Amino acid sequence: ALSPSPLGAPSASGSPAPEPSRPVIKLDHLSKSFGTFQALQDINLSVLQGDVLAIIGPSGSGKSTLLRCINWLEPANSGRITVGDLSLDCSKPVGKEQITTLRRQLGMVFQSFNLFPHMTVLRNVSLAQERTLGRSRREADEVSMGLLERVGLADKAHQYPVRCSGGQQQRIAIARALALDPKVMLFDEPTSALDPELGLEVLAVMRELASSGMTMIVVTHEMGFAENVSEHTMIMADGQILEYGPSREVIRNPQTERARRFLRAVN
Ligand code: ADP
Ligand code: MG
Repeated sequence: ALSPSPLGAPSASGSPAPEPSRPVIKLDHLSKSFGTFQALQDINLSVLQGDVLAIIGPSGSGKSTLLRCINWLEPANSGRITVGDLSLDCSKPVGKEQITTLRRQLGMVFQSFNLFPHMTVLRNVSLAQERTLGRSRREADEVSMGLLERVGLADKAHQYPVRCSGGQQQRIAIARALALDPKVMLFDEPTSALDPELGLEVLAVMRELASSGMTMIVVTHEMGFAENVSEHTMIMADGQILEYGPSREVIRNPQTERARRFLRAVN
């Protein structure tokens, strides 16, 4: 799936891409409670190399919690998370090193961009590469410039984030995540905080990323993105998977009344 795209981030490891059709992320019986409240119940899910999965569902259904558990920002209570060669049993104590190894494989983009206001756009994209990948400043800046070009913002490299629109800041946040060579990109409502027009430029970058072969999990309210860009769509409700399948089937022909109700509300 990884055609040499002009937007392609150079791989730090230089290792070959995994076989197509091998799961990059696998969740087995994943559950998460906050006190007595069960936010995720027995989630089972596989995402194949190059697949784009959209997660939709009503507010409070556990979408963000799911992404946060995958990234270990929230430790799940039970089940198993497998990313690439790393497989973690959530019911056992897991060491810091393993969490770091897990996170290095995952790029995360949130609704809020969280750029450092006192650093230039270029430094924002370069910093983590130096700290976590040990790239030299020069090396990191070179990768960053390539990625800023990829998201259409090379001309903003030496500006400060405050001079950028929300859509531009989110594209910078995407470049920053890509700079760490993730195996999978996780997006949590990346366009929800943006005016529709600015959301479109972010969606265009995400669409390009998808067509370059990146494996992506995208929590979104953008039904157009789910239907036209994501191979698969999952509808969540009450911490469970209500429906999962090829996007068009799930969105156009949902099997449950609960899903139909949700889709009527968002369309
Ligand atoms: P979504 O992203 O689908 O809107 P969330 O995953 O944010 O839903 O939340 C799912 C449920 O878990 C909600 O009822 C929310 O109130 C609850 N929840 C999320 N995070 C916490 C937390 N840190 N402590 C307690 N409850 C939480
Ligand atoms: Mg959420």
